[in-house]
Amino acid sequence: MSFIKYDDAAFVQKLFKRYYFELSGDVYVPERIEEREFGYFTFAEKVMIRHIGLTSSSELRQMLVEKAPLHVYHSAALYKYPRAPMDQKGWIGSELAFDIDADHLKTPCKKSHDFKVCRSCLLDYPADAERCSSCGAALEKVEWVCEDCLESARNEARKLLEILESDLGFEKIRLAFSGNRGYHVIVSDEHVQGMGQQERREIIDYVMAAGLEPRLLGLERRLRDGVAPDLGDPGWRGRIARQALQLLLSGDLTEIYELTGDRRASALVRDLEKLRGITMDKVPWNILSASSRRIVVSAAAKSAAAHVDAVVTQDVHRLIRLGNSLNGKTGLRAQLINPNNLDDFDPAWDPVALPMDEEVHVKVIRSGEIKARDVQIPPISGKVVKLPLATAVLLLCRGAATLP
Ligand SMILES: [Zn+2]
Ligand SMILES: [Zn+2]
Repeated sequence: MSFIKYDDAAFVQKLFKRYYFELSGDVYVPERIEEREFGYFTFAEKVMIRHIGLTSSSELRQMLVEKAPLHVYHSAALYKYPRAPMDQKGWIGSELAFDIDADHLKTPCKKSHDFKVCRSCLLDYPADAERCSSCGAALEKVEWVCEDCLESARNEARKLLEILESDLGFEKIRLAFSGNRGYHVIVSDEHVQGMGQQERREIIDYVMAAGLEPRLLGLERRLRDGVAPDLGDPGWRGRIARQALQLLLSGDLTEIYELTGDRRASALVRDLEKLRGITMDKVPWNILSASSRRIVVSAAAKSAAAHVDAVVTQDVHRLIRLGNSLNGKTGLRAQLINPNNLDDFDPAWDPVALPMDEEVHVKVIRSGEIKARDVQIPPISGKVVKLPLATAVLLLCRGAATLP
């Protein structure tokens, strides 16, 4: 819970209630709803209320309007008895869930946009400060999300979808924005549902290109004809070749160093010299030394792999955020997206679900730049300002502003 005052939470909850009252028909209704477990966080308590069973979409809508929860989830799993305690639920199967969170990606901007606040003095501090220098209280962290964070999360989602569709042949795939800084990808093809943790672990390894060795790609010490990965090869072979070619064409050694952390990449410097002036329409594996090949493969794999949260995917009892519900960390909608339209999705426009045509005064401790619909709000620091509701809610939810 990040609200600074009780009043802030109460104000936001009223808006959530209105959203669910007017638009609860938009929320996602999971298939076989009566076999799902539901759970939610209220605006008041810190613990999740879970083991809820619902029998119909109208019961789900009624719950949302009545409770107007801060966050709401349903199980990826199907159970015989969804209301029973965990060990007596009677697990039937579970969708395969992937979570991509910009927080886990190495975005360099993070250091520049996260900060801390003192909730009593309403002062802001750098992210590494511990206590308020004015009152001595412990500080609360405010995590900001910028366009770069969102773009790198989208890129991971794009890679993941491509691997799931072309390599693994999954067909029933749901994609949703998390409403904060990431994406959820859920596979519900019949044959994944019975998979246990071990099988899910193998899928994680596959999408993350774990254990992918040059030896297994036919790139061992002595290179034989026709066995090295080529651009049009299926699966990881082709993906490695395409990514390797891109890295070699860019000639960007810093990127290769960063991807692999491999100091021996100096061997590659000499090889890159040899490649100068050569037209590369495929990967010149035979010009690269064995050690350079190893480095290039490792860099290509790292940059083509989809970086997902392995814990989420392996968990066969996972609760996932209800599609098109509101995320209590931002007030944004956890927008369902057609996987084919990921590139057209605008995180500054589409998930803005609360009103932009009404305004409210808030005291902003600190805020980064905000883009919502066609409004652009520059960074604010220590001021009472009048903001469109949806953007005021974003700041209240993050604990970066309070009602004056
Ligand atoms: Zn203070
Ligand atoms: Zn960022």
